[in-house]
Amino acid sequence: MKPEALQSIVIGGAGLMGASMAQAFAHFGFSVTLYDISEAALEKGKKLIALNQKDWVELGLIGEEASGQLQESLRFTTDRSAFRNCGLVVESIVERLEVKQSFWREVSELAGKDCVFATNTSGLSITAIAEAVKGPERFAGMHWFNPSHIVPLVEVIQGEKTAPETADFLYDLALRIGKKPVRVNKDAKGFLANRLQLAVLREALHIVESGIGSPEDVDACMKYGLGLRYAGFGPFEVCDFGGLDTFYHISEYLFPDLSDAKEPFGLLQDRFERGEYGVKTQRGFYVYE
Ligand code: NAD
Repeated sequence: MKPEALQSIVIGGAGLMGASMAQAFAHFGFSVTLYDISEAALEKGKKLIALNQKDWVELGLIGEEASGQLQESLRFTTDRSAFRNCGLVVESIVERLEVKQSFWREVSELAGKDCVFATNTSGLSITAIAEAVKGPERFAGMHWFNPSHIVPLVEVIQGEKTAPETADFLYDLALRIGKKPVRVNKDAKGFLANRLQLAVLREALHIVESGIGSPEDVDACMKYGLGLRYAGFGPFEVCDFGGLDTFYHISEYLFPDLSDAKEPFGLLQDRFERGEYGVKTQRGFYVYE
């Protein structure tokens, strides 16, 4: 299925994430229903959406009138029959495997056979959740980032049984609603972004615990140096811009000393040996013409 053919979406869980995701879909013309287990949770979700919409209006992303229409267009329900006639279910409920599995066991029975399923789990195994899904080939991870009505990144994660078309569909859909999706080809712990984030945190903790610097100094390095350098760029781009040869030499003495010591990786070494130093040789991790 192509995203253009998608008619209606049900989001399971009207909490912090579900409420934000609902407006991202609705803004691009999709018919969205928020499902939750209680009226009180739905009321909370509705209030959160009204608050988020103020952000959009202030940022000039939407006008007052269109924002009102968007909020009017959303449906809220505790009735499970909502799952019977929709093209996509995105689940964003409590982060507990047994609760998610119980949700999916029921929902995948109720939904039509062509309905696509996605979970917004922060890090539970997609393959493990899929054990409860009837038709696990149509189930994948679709991991959004808080505040998801603002942050563009969405990870699309392939479980062991996810059909490539399911991941492709979710990737295209994310593009269609203005997001910047990335593909996560393996159901790895922490997927992709949290692995990067936690690698930085792990080293920050190591630096402080081993007396190299204080938490304030670590934070200052990020705020006044690395944070600025990485604003708008990723680690492979920064390496190409700074000189892959320089980064290679640093990695030779530094990787063995980092808390998770590693030799320079083949990915870096092979390019270094081929003289591909990044921007200065017009070829590194990327090609510059
Ligand atoms: P939340 O507590 O704000 O919302 C969860 C909602 O799910 C609540 O409204 C609750 O009533 C509802 N719920 C619980 N069990 C349900 C069920 N069986 N059926 C339907 N609704 C049910 O949580 P959140 O922060 O929105 O997180 C939701 C999911 O998104 C989790 O899997 C979380 O790990 C993931 N996530 C969270 C963040 C974040 O920064 N908060 C970021 C990315 C992903």
